[in-house]
Amino acid sequence: MAVAPESIDEIRSHVNVYDIISQYLTLEKVGSSYRALCPFHPEKTPSFYVSPQKNIWKCFGCGKSGNAITFVMEYEGISFSDALIKIAEKQGIKLKFIGKDKFKENTKYYQLLEQVLKFYQQQLKISAKARKYLSDRNILPSTIDKFNIGYSPEDDSFVKWVEKNNINKEDLIKIGVISSLDSKKDKFTGRIIFPIRNLQGKIVGFGGRSIDQYKSPKYLNSPETHIYKKSEILYGLFENKDIIRESREVILVEGYFDVISPYQIGIKNTVATLGTALSLRQAKILKKFADKVYILYDSDEAGKKAAIRAAKMLLYEGLDVYYTPLENKDPDELAKNGYKIFKQHLENSKRFTDFLLDRISQTSDIYKRKKLIEIFLDLLSYMKDKILAGEYLNKLSEITGIDKAFLEIKPVQINEDIPYEEDEIDLNRLNYSEQILLKGLIEDKNKTLQIINKYGKIFVSDYFNYLIDLINKEENEYDILEKLKNIPFDEKSIEGAVKNLILINKEEEMKLNSAFEVDENIFEKKVQEIRKLKSLDPKFKKSLQEENLGHDDA
Ligand SMILES: [Zn+2]
Repeated sequence: MAVAPESIDEIRSHVNVYDIISQYLTLEKVGSSYRALCPFHPEKTPSFYVSPQKNIWKCFGCGKSGNAITFVMEYEGISFSDALIKIAEKQGIKLKFIGKDKFKENTKYYQLLEQVLKFYQQQLKISAKARKYLSDRNILPSTIDKFNIGYSPEDDSFVKWVEKNNINKEDLIKIGVISSLDSKKDKFTGRIIFPIRNLQGKIVGFGGRSIDQYKSPKYLNSPETHIYKKSEILYGLFENKDIIRESREVILVEGYFDVISPYQIGIKNTVATLGTALSLRQAKILKKFADKVYILYDSDEAGKKAAIRAAKMLLYEGLDVYYTPLENKDPDELAKNGYKIFKQHLENSKRFTDFLLDRISQTSDIYKRKKLIEIFLDLLSYMKDKILAGEYLNKLSEITGIDKAFLEIKPVQINEDIPYEEDEIDLNRLNYSEQILLKGLIEDKNKTLQIINKYGKIFVSDYFNYLIDLINKEENEYDILEKLKNIPFDEKSIEGAVKNLILINKEEEMKLNSAFEVDENIFEKKVQEIRKLKSLDPKFKKSLQEENLGHDDA
């Protein structure tokens, strides 16, 4: 679990640096400050100062400085949030937490799913039947590699493999691969396997397509498990996310092959819902990557219904929604006609709302027309942009000749439980340079670290440290990236940000120095003290020189 950001403020305003540091070091009062031997560098005379008034500490020997939180971080060698937790425990402060430490909890299961996938991939290599099925569907070997496609054989080799490798069967039940401890086969036997990954690229479940055309159901997916929430995952998003983010356009389809076949012909911004209607959560996730969505669903009744439902969710999230009618094809088949034709279909797409308006004006049967008008009005009620919804209402009134007074946009209620915490993150608490640096660290950690190391010591706020921790714990870098959408992260911008943060660091250091100097003229006093000691005892002189404090005047 991660500490809630407001807890940082609480700790900072309620905890005094003196109360914390005095639990670690013996502090001696000098003027309005306290001093001690520095715990961060070897020394014999104290140059580590604590100012309870300013609520800061600084060592004039090694130059380290900070507040109560950074002291505990440094002293204990722990992360920012762990330091918060430690301080809260010591001071009896109740912290607020958000989310769960999902990653740590689930590592074991992610690894197991990865291991199971390796088995399926191996099986595909040795099954001529499965490979023939894929080549009959025009799936290229490079695509098999890219999407890590595998195969679960019909015999009992999975269970034999499990037993041979001492794999815990209870864990396999938990991740939805077998049904019970005495299962003789896995759930996907006789099927082509598609690993389903979350946004971090971790496998959370499998999809299976039967290679026997008489076997039912044709598609079988992993059940929902504690790591596989169907309403939160989109197939292909992990694999295609960079291209989607670049173009800000995504194509929404319904199945594995609808993602994979277009990919092969160069349409690489496709994602699929897997046997469930598009949820608001999925729409929210898509909004992070794209502004425009093409819905390419099957043209049967079920497909049309699903498309309307998807459009509602997407409009609710403020996406620009297009509909691409497929004339009795699915995207997998459409892809067989090549890139050009596929692209043409996309270009001929219409906004979902305009498409419906056309249908309304083309429909003469008044009962069918009424039905379409109801669908249209329902759609408008989901539209995030109320001005646009109003414009469409005018258009509808124009086209149908129905007085606007009879056309009603009902307020919409969505009862979906969306576990969402992104609003807890407030990136305005970072300065612009920190925002650039944060984006750089998420997008290209190595390059960004190189630049930092090249230039030197930078200043970052507590909130910056907090976010770095949060990203590691909560896997929410996409929430944060979405908020940093307009922040540049090219080398020049990062360099500029680093240089600026070095300047801030220097200013902060000067402020710290003056904070102590104004209070007690520490430096001056220290120099006098040293002079006095030196003049008294020649032995001191020697020890002082050893300590590197003996200056030219020794
Ligand atoms: Zn020090």
